[in-house]
Amino acid sequence: MTESIAIMWFRNDLRLADNPALRAACNDGKILPIYILEDDDADDCDKMGAASRVWLHHSLQALNHSLDGKLQYFVGKAEDILMKLCHELTIASVHWNRAYEPWRMTRDQQIKERLKTKNIQAQSYKANLLWEPWEVTKADGTPYRVFTPFYRRGCLNAESPRRPLEAPAHIDFANNAEIGKDLEFLSLLPKQEWHQNLIRNWQCGEEGARKALLSFLDGGISNYSDGRNLPAKPYVSRLSPHLHYGEISVNQCWYAALDRFGMAHDGCDTFLSELGWREFSASLLFYNHHLKTDPLNQKFIHFPWRSSETDLSAWQKGMTGYPIVDAGMRELYQTGYMHNRVRMIVGSFLVKNLRLHWHHGEKWFWDCLFDADHASNSASWQWIAGCGADAAPYFRVFNPITQAERFDGQAEYIKKYVPELKNLPAKYIGAPFDAPRHVLDDANITLGKDYPHPIVDAKQSRLDALDAFATLKEVS
Ligand SMILES: Cc1cc2nc3c(=O)[nH]c(=O)nc-3n(C[C@H](O)[C@H](O)[C@H](O)COP(=O)(O)OP(=O)(O)OC[C@H]3O[C@@H](n4cnc5c(N)ncnc54)[C@H](O)[C@@H]3O)c2cc1C
Repeated sequence: MTESIAIMWFRNDLRLADNPALRAACNDGKILPIYILEDDDADDCDKMGAASRVWLHHSLQALNHSLDGKLQYFVGKAEDILMKLCHELTIASVHWNRAYEPWRMTRDQQIKERLKTKNIQAQSYKANLLWEPWEVTKADGTPYRVFTPFYRRGCLNAESPRRPLEAPAHIDFANNAEIGKDLEFLSLLPKQEWHQNLIRNWQCGEEGARKALLSFLDGGISNYSDGRNLPAKPYVSRLSPHLHYGEISVNQCWYAALDRFGMAHDGCDTFLSELGWREFSASLLFYNHHLKTDPLNQKFIHFPWRSSETDLSAWQKGMTGYPIVDAGMRELYQTGYMHNRVRMIVGSFLVKNLRLHWHHGEKWFWDCLFDADHASNSASWQWIAGCGADAAPYFRVFNPITQAERFDGQAEYIKKYVPELKNLPAKYIGAPFDAPRHVLDDANITLGKDYPHPIVDAKQSRLDALDAFATLKEVS
């Protein structure tokens, strides 16, 4: 008798624990675990960036290890691949966890309908968000546009999130499961060697994610409410890439913090609300499919952006002459991550001081971040630019000098990523161009040679930005 098989289609849920689709597939009997590289299905602007591919490679390797090497890889259009598998094997059901990128939602719906016409059970599950976007709306059914009511009134009054599920006690793999390609076939790693350094400080996969969560709960969370603004300190969780790839679920993070510390704990309350921002971004994308390209505030279509390849390149390379900006951009390029406070500083510098379009920032982050996430990245860039939901007010231009003084007073973060300034006293490090000549000489720094002159004047460019924003008032 031919065995009937349940396909477990892994996507951004690369874990065994708290994986509802995997649990359901295992309950159906023997499973065929598959991963499809979705390049052929993704919208052009949504094809994975270089850093994301590197992370994915290592994460799949870790998942495959947990699955006793039984994960089967495919490249191509997901619908074609699934239909081919259903044709060649006796597939009874296909299970996956829901994703919320617009192209994925449309595509998944088509696949579901097609499988059903073949009498194959197709089932999707909630696993990547605490609340589905349609579960948190205002009383009149419309979506929230402001974070605090979304989270405090909407999320916290909605049904409590599901408690995390255990990993299946036993997985029965289908016998004829050697049908896909191996991981190398996906060509996720670039030819250049840079990716080895990039990944060095991370442990991709479920075990690495679990350790990151535990280390945060044992340490960082106690200082999180204020300390999360200090980029040199280990007070943030660095869970974002693990969460993006679903190596750990947001439910696991939510309950691990809540059960141990409770809502009354400052750090815990703040951490849970940051997870709330992730939910808010997903909701914004769900209700605004063009979040990556179109400003939520339509007036911004008329914003007088500048255009300068030279300035953009200086920003990308971390050569703007503003040390906190340069440290952030170099952290991003060297580690695939950037601290949230610094993301806001470099973002504000790009869109306000340089007045370059936020699309440039969104794209660069998309290519360089390990945690590059359609919803969070687009929503955050719109927030920075002032055109998003609940956005930073247009007149709030982060001053890169005072931000460095406030949040990196001892210049530990700057010195780590901008080592050419390591001999400069911390007092001058936010603005080396203001240091007296003899101080620069003592630190062996010649501006324009060892470290760039500022590419823009922070004060004047702020005023120019305010003038540019003022022009929007006239747009009806
Ligand atoms: C310009 C810009 C672009 C960004 N792009 C991304 C992105 O592509 N992917 C991404 O995951 N985050 C993005 N963020 C949000 C935030 O910077 C990161 O989630 C956070 O820095 C990740 O570090 P962490 O895990 O140590 O965060 P923690 O402070 O430990 O927070 C815990 C978790 O909460 C979530 N979170 C925290 N802050 C935010 C936020 N503002 N918006 C959404 N979720 C949040 C993340 O999942 C994070 O892992 C962006 C922020 C800015 C300003």
